[in-house]
Order: sequence, then structure tokens, then C-alpha cells
Amino acid sequence: MADLEVRDVCKQFATRGEALRVLDGVSLDLSRGENAAILGPSGSGKSTLLQIIGTLDSPTSGSVRLEGQDPFALDEPALASFRNSQIGFVFQDHHLLPQCSVLENVLIPALATGRAAAADVERARGLIERVGLAERAEHRPGELSGGERQRVAIARAMLRQPVLLLADEPTGNLDQSTAHSITELLLEVSRDEGNVLIVVTHSLELAAALDRRLQLERGKLQPE
Ligand code: ADP
Ligand code: MG
Repeated sequence: MADLEVRDVCKQFATRGEALRVLDGVSLDLSRGENAAILGPSGSGKSTLLQIIGTLDSPTSGSVRLEGQDPFALDEPALASFRNSQIGFVFQDHHLLPQCSVLENVLIPALATGRAAAADVERARGLIERVGLAERAEHRPGELSGGERQRVAIARAMLRQPVLLLADEPTGNLDQSTAHSITELLLEVSRDEGNVLIVVTHSLELAAALDRRLQLERGKLQPE
């Protein structure tokens, strides 16, 4: 059994008049240490699929299982806790809190369960060093470059040792060489930690670095 099992996921949105069918039977299996790029034109449903895999939205039909568990069977508080501990997100926009330091931003997932424990702080510092920002732990996001902010976002996503690391166009706002280094970092960190990594990207060149490339078109996911 794969650590991530996506089965026949369909998603329809109710729009004025007719329903908009965005996903039309998407299946995907990935295990820890494996990674995949999802490519596809704008509006093809890449973000919708990532949101469903990340349990931020539910499928109209079909199922998602993470290490055998069906997250959509959980009630809302249990689902929020599951998401916080099992899934790390990196978005195109870093979503860092501007008033908080790098260290505080990386610790945010630990705060959902109360105060950050000493072990959380130690893990956060280790991750900040891992992403190359050891000297910047007390800096605020406004003092960092776009690439450095994404490094912080990656460290934050990894804090709780999630099974899944999901990145939605993480390099969309970066220049080419920074985009390459961020993609490399996502790959290295997820391999070291044994995550399932899924990266949505427009760039075939960046996608080439990942093990698998899948194309989302007309609601179906196919090998590129
Ligand atoms: P991508 O990330 O590939 O650009 P999205 O997943 O954001 O595509 O969107 C796919 C399609 O679904 C688009 O046509 C978009 O307008 C539509 N869509 C996304 N979210 C909603 C929503 N909450 N309600 C209605 N339509 C939506
Ligand atoms: Mg999108």
C-alpha cells in the first residue's frame, strides 16, 4: 500500500447554471521518499487537486488515504490536527507572518498544539540551518530575499515531520537560478526526511529534476 493513495477523485464546482467539472477521476500513488511534479495549463485544476490531497478541500467523489487513513472521515477539529501534523504546505506566496522572526515563523505549526516545546525549538533551529539560514534566525521576513523567504516556508512546512510535502508553484515568484535552488532544496529535504513530495509547476525545466512528471489536462492526470 502506498503512503499516499488518491483514488478516482472527481471535483465539481457549482457555478451559475451548470456544474464545472475540474477533476474527472484522478488517481495517484506515492510512497515516502518518492516525488512527482504536476504540470498543466493555468486553470486545469492543479491547485484544486493539491488542496484536496492536502485536505483543505474535499472531493465530490473518490478518496484520499494517507498512511491508510481517510482524513475526510475525521471531524473538523481532528482533521485540522491531522493536517497540521501530517501535511506541510509551501505556496507561491510564502505566507510568513511579517511581525515574527524566522525562528517564530518556523515554529508556527507547533503553536497549534499550545506552546512550542524545547524539542520544537531545537528542531526549528536545525531546519533553519538545513535551509541555509542559520545566521538569519532572528531576522524578519521583510529583511529576506524572495528565495530566502521560501527557504523559511520550507523549514516551517517540515517542522512537524509531515508525511506529505505539497508545494503549489513554489518558485512562481522567483528568478530562474533561485527557482532551481529552491527546487533542489525541496528535493533534498524531502528525500532526507522521507516525505512524499508533490510540486505543482509551470516549468518543464524544473519538473525535469523530479522523479515523475504528471500532466493534468481535462480533469485527468497522465504521465507527461
Ligand atoms: P490551476 O491551479 O491549474 O490554475 P485551479 O485548480 O485553481 O487551476 O482552478 C481550476 C478551475 O476550477 C478553474 O476554472 C477555476 O476557476 C475553478 N475553481 C477553482 N476553485 C473554485 C471554486 N471554489 N469555485 C468555483 N470554481 C473554482
Ligand atoms: Mg494554481
